[in-house]
Amino acid sequence: MNSRGYHGEFGGAFIPEILTATFDQLVDAFEKAKNDPCFWEEYVDVMSTYSCRPTPLTFAGNLTNHFKGARIYIKREDLNHTGAHKANNVMGQGLLVKRMGKHRVIAETGAGQHGVATATMAARFGFRCSIYMGEVDVDRQRPNVFWMERLGAEVIPVKEGTRILKDAINEAFRDWVTNMDDTHYVLGTACGPHPFPEIVSYFQSIIGKEARDQIMECEGKLPSRIYACVGGGSNALGIFSGFLDDGVELVGVEAGGEGVDTGRHASRLASNAGSVGVAQGYKSYFLQDRDGQMEETHSVAAGLDYVGVSPILASHRERGRIRFEAATDSEVLDALSLTIKKEGLIPALESAHAFAQAFKETPELSRDHIILINQSGRGDKDIFTIAEAFSDPGWQKFIRKKGNEYGT
Ligand SMILES: *Cc1c(COP(=O)(O)O)cnc(C)c1O
Repeated sequence: MNSRGYHGEFGGAFIPEILTATFDQLVDAFEKAKNDPCFWEEYVDVMSTYSCRPTPLTFAGNLTNHFKGARIYIKREDLNHTGAHKANNVMGQGLLVKRMGKHRVIAETGAGQHGVATATMAARFGFRCSIYMGEVDVDRQRPNVFWMERLGAEVIPVKEGTRILKDAINEAFRDWVTNMDDTHYVLGTACGPHPFPEIVSYFQSIIGKEARDQIMECEGKLPSRIYACVGGGSNALGIFSGFLDDGVELVGVEAGGEGVDTGRHASRLASNAGSVGVAQGYKSYFLQDRDGQMEETHSVAAGLDYVGVSPILASHRERGRIRFEAATDSEVLDALSLTIKKEGLIPALESAHAFAQAFKETPELSRDHIILINQSGRGDKDIFTIAEAFSDPGWQKFIRKKGNEYGT
């Protein structure tokens, strides 16, 4: 990365001038924290006493026997507090907020997972918290809205535009411009203007550091391939960062939705659908039309349903260091079912994209190879989507009965 936050041609900070001082302050706080050896120690201490770090590495013996290919290991980010790797990022940024002496955090959220994680962090650190969410998403994601409010956050429904994630991002920036002296914007993935991609991937690098030590400890050698799902790119960068300098093949798996030829997907790097542009404060690949208007995206996994992608990943793709693939919704549901039955693990729909791609490829490899899959989160949150996808009759009856109780 150069001093202006570019990774090759990608990244940068396209921000309103009024935020320049705030960004300078953030860059400065982050640099000082990174250079302070106590800071990483403090971070690891928080994560090991409040979340579940180090998260285990699980050998998937039954899946290995099933595919008769490479030995499959799973990095268990699902065991983090609030159920995903998002905890790594929000708790890390919380420590930065303390160092900057600020007392309020804001965030935007689509599916609500990042909102819940941020509200959790705010409760723990004693910060005031406002979460911006498109009105459509507020209606769709009631369970997460419920938890954010219980956690003491103010959830602000955004009624502008199409009332979804991108409108919430605009509103959050508007808030930040007005309240920058005391407020920090907790960005949720390795996207956005510099220094956010660097900050988020720095905290997520804890995944790769641990995974590397763990696989060396139990196998005495590195994996041949590593699979991670790619929404904005933070869990992928987190696990990959421990192996970037080695010959390990790194595979990022995007949301293929109903198929990359259907237009109903969120594949920016694996398909030809993405193109280079500047949006939401950074330069990267986006799903956009010829005029630079953002396209609609689709995925069975809400966390992968995003138009942009980390500029750091875009630059790795350009250099050929990371291979990108897309898994379709139906492949993902199959991989999820198999993993639940064979290993008793319930990956999030997002994470199941990494599993689906790994399952396609593992039979190619012999048993002396190791593959590593990042289970970025747990699937409990997806019960509504999964039960619906499998048309589970018992579940439908349950929902109908609940609806009747409330007179609908
Ligand atoms: C949010 C989320 C993702 C997508 O975010 P990245 O920044 O691409 O990691 C993936 N998996 C889970 C479980 C999530 O909650």
